[in-house]
Amino acid sequence: MAARRVSLVTGGAGFVGYNLCHRLLSQGDEVICLDDMTSGMPQHVDELQRHERFHFLRHDVCEPVTLKVDRIFNLACPASPPAYQADPIKTVLTSVLGVRNMLELALANDARLLHASTSEVYGDPLEHPQRESYNGNVKTMGPRACYDEGKRCAETLLHDYHRVRGADVRVARIFNTYGPGMRTDDGRAVSNFIVQALAGEDLTVYGDGSYTRSFCYVDDLIDGILRLMELDGDHSQPVNLGNPHEIAIKELAELVLAATGSQSRIVHLANAVDDPKVRCPDITRATALLGWRPKVDIGDGLRPTIDYFRVLTGTVDTVA
Ligand code: NAD
Ligand code: UDP
Repeated sequence: MAARRVSLVTGGAGFVGYNLCHRLLSQGDEVICLDDMTSGMPQHVDELQRHERFHFLRHDVCEPVTLKVDRIFNLACPASPPAYQADPIKTVLTSVLGVRNMLELALANDARLLHASTSEVYGDPLEHPQRESYNGNVKTMGPRACYDEGKRCAETLLHDYHRVRGADVRVARIFNTYGPGMRTDDGRAVSNFIVQALAGEDLTVYGDGSYTRSFCYVDDLIDGILRLMELDGDHSQPVNLGNPHEIAIKELAELVLAATGSQSRIVHLANAVDDPKVRCPDITRATALLGWRPKVDIGDGLRPTIDYFRVLTGTVDTVA
């Protein structure tokens, strides 16, 4: 019998990683989740550990590791602004040392590495929507720089390991993604608004709510990540993965109120520092290369996300 494919998911106890581990297990992979639990959820690990092909390794991606793997998904890095700003030095190191260690592991195993990069490499963009060719408008200093510049340096390392040492790399530039599997205290807009609406608390919109984002449902993102990983040939250039449907944050708050039936109010707080004003992916490359485009619109994606948070916050026992 052929050996099962071994997929390593760093950051597999976090929001995207948990959804990815589930999908890989359903495809028959042996899955190793490497996570230091900075922002991962113990419940996710407990649930995944019921599966006999799932293995959990508590480890800091900043430290080298020796494993036998066939492919690597490098997702380890806190992704919500409060989480990555809590320990900015560690955030930079996680991006840079983490990807270096995973590149060395990929070379040692002759394995392909897919790295979770981000739309934050475009910073506060002056080109809109953002194509992969846009070099971005990013500050080297400020509260978001640890994440943005860490991810940019990671892309540089991926590019140079590919050029100089022949590493087989894939770079997914992920735009705002939401769905079941997020923490209640994650701190991002979708989870904050849903948790606030379910608790009858005010929805905290930073600034006047006119800033925009384009929200992608997690199942669509996982489809894109897997297509990029599985594509034959040499494809080391970055690929935007996100939903091009752009909305203002105030509109997102209103959608959450309508979908939850909550009587909560929307309140306006101070703008977040260095908050990008707009963000929307140009997904021409992803569509041409992968035949991929998101299928789930925000209304359809909010429903299962709200159901998930109802259970997590104890508003209901289970979802029918
Ligand atoms: P998350 O914070 O929910 O998950 C990140 C996971 O990485 C957590 O389980 C955390 O414990 C783990 N981790 C952090 N530092 C680590 C370290 N030093 N060693 C080992 N594990 C570590 O974030 P997410 O939303 O699931 O994002 C996953 C990846 O996708 C991140 O790399 C993020 O930058 C990228 N991304 C996500 C989005 C999004 O909207 N969700 C957008 C752009 C990019
Ligand atoms: N935001 C908000 N209220 C919140 C959380 C976020 O108004 O409780 C805003 C935030 O300022 C930004 C947008 O929503 O303009 C998206 O923020 P998020 O943290 O979800 O993602 P990112 O800033 O990384 O795109």
